[in-house]
Amino acid sequence: MQKYGGFIPFIKSLKFRLIISIILVAVIPAFLVAAVILSSYEARALSIRESEIKSQAKILANQIATSEYMNADAATSDSILTQIGMLMSIYDGRLLIVDDNFRIMYDTYNLDENKTIISEEVIRSVSGEVFASYDSENQYIETATPIINPTDKTSTVLGVLVLSVSTDNIQLSADYLQQIAAVIMVLIVAAMGFFGVLISIHLVAPFNKLSEGIASIQGGRTDEELMVKDYTETIIICEKFNKMMSKMKVMDDSRQEFVSNVSHELKTPLTSMKVLADSINSMHGAPVELYQEFMADITNEIERETKIINDLLSLVKMDKTAAALNISAVNINELIEQIMKRLQPIADQQKVQLVMESFRPVTAEVDEVKITLAFTNLIENAIKYNKNDGEGWVHVSLNADHQYFYVKVEDSGMGIPEEALDHIYERFYRVDKSHSREIGGTGLGLAITRNAVLMHKGAIKVHSELGEGTTFDVRIPLSYIV
Ligand code: ADP
Repeated sequence: MQKYGGFIPFIKSLKFRLIISIILVAVIPAFLVAAVILSSYEARALSIRESEIKSQAKILANQIATSEYMNADAATSDSILTQIGMLMSIYDGRLLIVDDNFRIMYDTYNLDENKTIISEEVIRSVSGEVFASYDSENQYIETATPIINPTDKTSTVLGVLVLSVSTDNIQLSADYLQQIAAVIMVLIVAAMGFFGVLISIHLVAPFNKLSEGIASIQGGRTDEELMVKDYTETIIICEKFNKMMSKMKVMDDSRQEFVSNVSHELKTPLTSMKVLADSINSMHGAPVELYQEFMADITNEIERETKIINDLLSLVKMDKTAAALNISAVNINELIEQIMKRLQPIADQQKVQLVMESFRPVTAEVDEVKITLAFTNLIENAIKYNKNDGEGWVHVSLNADHQYFYVKVEDSGMGIPEEALDHIYERFYRVDKSHSREIGGTGLGLAITRNAVLMHKGAIKVHSELGEGTTFDVRIPLSYIV
């Protein structure tokens, strides 16, 4: 038996797939939500910081513009420097004041004073524009705000306030949130894994019940019906399984019946032979004539045994698949004439008139041996179960259309009772057992005929009137259908 433990069978199990599905169903949306929240948090925090810095820079630029700072010596404008100091203590960054000649007047880092700065933002700002940008690589926001003369109606730009502020703390908060999200995600996976195991055990249980039920039926409790009602699927599987089991039971019963019939049929001639042999042995000094008579009876029984075995072998051959057919183009007129010629002596013995009527020449793709067997049985039965008062007749007719050929075997015999018509094709079935035995029947002939006809995808029909006669109609395709 195949083993279902181990890693690969677990990976392929429904249980594992359910666990993974449950985890994914929880984790994928949680992951998407976390990603969207984190990125929008960062974007929003940056935009708030940017507008905050812009407005602070604007306020400072106004103050610088009104304070004469741009005209006077920087050192004298203490209040502005105090403002700058305060601003820089709030934001971690660098502030430059640039005059309209692009000269750096003031640098909170004291690095570049009196140097000239020519950058895009400063140039654009000198022309009156407020400029802001975010450098995501170095994580800072830079703004350039024009310092505009408040008294001048033409809004002369006195200089530019360049403010660079680090966004490290925003990044730190984002990282922190990301860590929390990761922890939550791990907890979700663990929780969903745990629930997944519980749910999958519960959901898969009916299938385990199903396989246990099948195992117990395999173990011998074949009379029990399998039923697991938990799911529609399990109900369907159970119904199909029960149907299959009952079919197998019927097959098994018929096989057993067949075997017991075979043994019985084979035993009968043996029993007769034993009785004959025993009785002759017990007779001391019996005349030679008696020995000869008993030996003739024993020979008859041996012939009978041989016939049963031959019929059984034919039947077994017919039970095989259609692949066992040996198809060739056969002249059916000749085939039937041959059969009738072979059966003529029996017909003469029975004083039965044999007539063949053929409407057209017929050639068909058939297995010659099997079809010969089928028609021989039909015609032989028509002779055997006929009157022997010299009035009996058997008519065999052959006809065809573009698709099939038709053989009709009609007799003037004893007929078959209606209740027996359904059984005549069963193996070992005989309407009158003693009569059939008397005339050498095995009860296998019609079973062989029917199997041969069905193997050729043909059909057989019987019509019978008790005391009047019987007609068998056989239809077989001209071309063999695979
Ligand atoms: P058997 O070897 O006994 O003839 P078959 O399978 O050929 O077995 O036939 C089954 C039974 O059907 C026969 O025993 C007989 O009772 C009946 N039967 C078959 N053919 C005819 C027929 N043409 N007329 C009357 N009875 C028939």
